[in-house]
Amino acid sequence: MSDKKIWFETLHSSFGQFFSIDKTLYHNKTDHQDLIIFDNNTMGRVMALDGVVQTTERDEFIYHEMMAHVPIFAHGKAKRILIIGGGDGAMLREICRHKDVEHITMVEIDADVITFCRQYLPNHNAGAFDDPRFNLVIEDGVNFVNQTEMKFDVIISDCTDPIGPGESLFTSDFYQGCANCLNENGIFVAQNGVCFLQQDEAINSHQKLSTYFDDVSFYQAAIPTYYGGMMTFAWASQNTQLRHQDLSVLKTRFAEAGIRCRYYNPAIHLGCFALPQYLLDALAQ
Ligand code: SAM
Repeated sequence: MSDKKIWFETLHSSFGQFFSIDKTLYHNKTDHQDLIIFDNNTMGRVMALDGVVQTTERDEFIYHEMMAHVPIFAHGKAKRILIIGGGDGAMLREICRHKDVEHITMVEIDADVITFCRQYLPNHNAGAFDDPRFNLVIEDGVNFVNQTEMKFDVIISDCTDPIGPGESLFTSDFYQGCANCLNENGIFVAQNGVCFLQQDEAINSHQKLSTYFDDVSFYQAAIPTYYGGMMTFAWASQNTQLRHQDLSVLKTRFAEAGIRCRYYNPAIHLGCFALPQYLLDALAQ
């Protein structure tokens, strides 16, 4: 290895990934977390918080397309969307592609993430922060969902892992608050880690969400920089049918939306709810 600086991810203490830092663009402690943005020859620009990769230019499309389009196409009539976290702006970018969405609120705890991702990761938001439907609240997501009078059709918890400020977004308090601010037929989804390495987190979320929602499960996609296998996205709704939309319905909605994706398509949507037996067995215990 040349004399390049190496950045090691610290999510797991005994198994991990590294990136060469080809250029550091920003590195500082915000009021909430350690924020670094750097260039890497293979993955493009990388943003990490508290030593954990949040997003890279090269593979972010997989994660953001799957977390935005699966709940919105499953719902079919989503007008009001709530993003918890999402400060890099790419989730907002994908949601803004739905012309029938009328209102988007983002509740992000760390204003610096938005400021420096706007500056150094402009392709992530791609102008979405200027969309007239967008409203920003700088707040802890758990406080917002437990205090707001607003109601939403889809809630997307685009959060960090349950360390530091992200910890509160994996609690019963948060899940109950989300259940209370969803409209009828509302859908909650959340990034819930790579189940092969973070299985306890999936079990924990499933148990807690099941207290407040009638239909709780996961869907999955493999995102290279969330290494260790497939990432599991938590799914929760009071409507048990929404997770089982027919392929014909999904194809019609996708065609009507006129959105071209690089990962998401109706067949992927249908298949992403199929889960490995080891996870099903762990959830059944
Ligand atoms: N794609 C990433 C992932 O899957 O790990 C998440 C990306 S996004 C940058 C995560 C965002 O969650 C960060 O901007 C962070 O500041 C925000 N966040 C963490 N804890 C939060 C909380 N309690 N309330 C609101 N936002 C929070």
